[in-house]
Amino acid sequence: MAAKVGFDGEAAAALAKELRASFASSKTRSYEWRVSQLNGLLKLTTDHEAEIVDALNSDLSKPEFESLIYEICMVKSSCKLAIKQLKSWMKPKKAKPSMTTFPSSAKIVSEPLGVVLVISAWNYPFLLSLDPVVGAIAAGNAVVLKPSELAPATSSLLAKLLGKYMDSSSVRVVEGAVAETSALLEQKWDKICYTGNARVGRIVMASAAKHLTPVLLELGGKSPVVVDSGINLQVASRRIIVGKWGCNNGQACISPDYIITTKDFASKLVDAMKSELDSFYGKNPLQSKDLSRIVNYNHYARLTNLLDEDKVSGKVIHGGERDTSNLRIAPTILLDVPQDSLMMQEEIFGPLLPIIAVDKIEDSFDLINSGTKPLAAYLFTNSQKLKDQFVRNISAGGMVINDTTIHLAVPSLPFGGVGESGMGAYHGKFSFEAFSHKKAVVCRGFLGDASLRYPPYTEGKLSV
Ligand code: NAD
Repeated sequence: MAAKVGFDGEAAAALAKELRASFASSKTRSYEWRVSQLNGLLKLTTDHEAEIVDALNSDLSKPEFESLIYEICMVKSSCKLAIKQLKSWMKPKKAKPSMTTFPSSAKIVSEPLGVVLVISAWNYPFLLSLDPVVGAIAAGNAVVLKPSELAPATSSLLAKLLGKYMDSSSVRVVEGAVAETSALLEQKWDKICYTGNARVGRIVMASAAKHLTPVLLELGGKSPVVVDSGINLQVASRRIIVGKWGCNNGQACISPDYIITTKDFASKLVDAMKSELDSFYGKNPLQSKDLSRIVNYNHYARLTNLLDEDKVSGKVIHGGERDTSNLRIAPTILLDVPQDSLMMQEEIFGPLLPIIAVDKIEDSFDLINSGTKPLAAYLFTNSQKLKDQFVRNISAGGMVINDTTIHLAVPSLPFGGVGESGMGAYHGKFSFEAFSHKKAVVCRGFLGDASLRYPPYTEGKLSV
């Protein structure tokens, strides 16, 4: 995409300076400003629904249904929740004072951090750009948003619309790729929220460290699905399919990355999934309008490379069709993919779903724990014991039992990773908190001035 012409280090410094001055004027701190900006975002999303759907279609061939449900409605819900709850979120929270400060009162005051930078990714380019912005504004910050250059239509729509609906002295969009993001990262921000892969996450964190800037890193990883026997296979298959291919054709950070099931159950699961896949996407899924395409040729080549690796190529048991001219890959299931294959070593982030068969379902724990901590982990079972063991033994950003991906839509839950899948969390009130500093405030009067801590430090004072 066309980078913003001339957006270099000097322009980034000027922008940061301008927004810092705006923040220093205190305008963004007021309840009224925050609500007016949140209403602006809500109106933008409502007024331009059709254009947003078109942009997402142009960037990813994203089905309209997915654009409406997973991007537009999610942003609207976040705005509405923040508008409704903002007064209570902003209200200082009373804290219990300590005996050592008696008499006193104590409270926690949420204050904005200042000027924050949001760097977002291409796969849910509308949601992942605006959802953090909702939190940043609700918390009273000035914001610079850098959408992904890999979703150019959405990026340019955001640049066009935010300027019209929001206070441009405090909320700005910078379009661009690595050079522009690098120029932004040279500046001092009060928080950086980055969504994307862990390699760039490290670059962001290293840049932030130079200024001791805190980071919220929303990364990815290999999210496993453990499937026990004795379950409702049809329902389980549908829920796995919709979490994988029904989420941007597998290009979602919490999409199931691989399945682990037992050797004697694998063929039943595969049969059920094949049958449901056929009923969802038909016999020729490359033609289905209900599946996104792969975002660009680089990602298409990355995915076909995973599929064509010698260790893997004979393992396809369903799908595998591809169409380079349209950047489409059909939903593909593989069985017994070796652990040392590229497919099992890196996040797939596309429509390929390997199934690993183990002797006992409990063997799945060691297998998952031998890798880096996933962003999400899923389990299908009727066994309460297995559910308890899963929650206790598996470390992941979030978990769902007997479904996939739906935790994302629960605003009372924090959304974020752990270990290599990220740090920090947002959504709902957690978004407000992610962009606020909780200031500890103790207040005293002049009465009851205990002299214990005043010198001279006599022994008698220690024995009290
Ligand atoms: P991407 O290519 O859009 O990159 C993300 C952002 O990083 C972009 O704005 C891009 O301009 C910037 N960037 C890229 N290279 C850079 C560099 N060298 N220096 C500075 N900035 C740079 O997205 P991606 O990384 O392909 O996204 C996919 C990854 O993101 C997957 O790992 C996925 O799991 C993860 N993800 C996580 C979440 C989440 O909420 N946790 C959501 C979506 C995607």
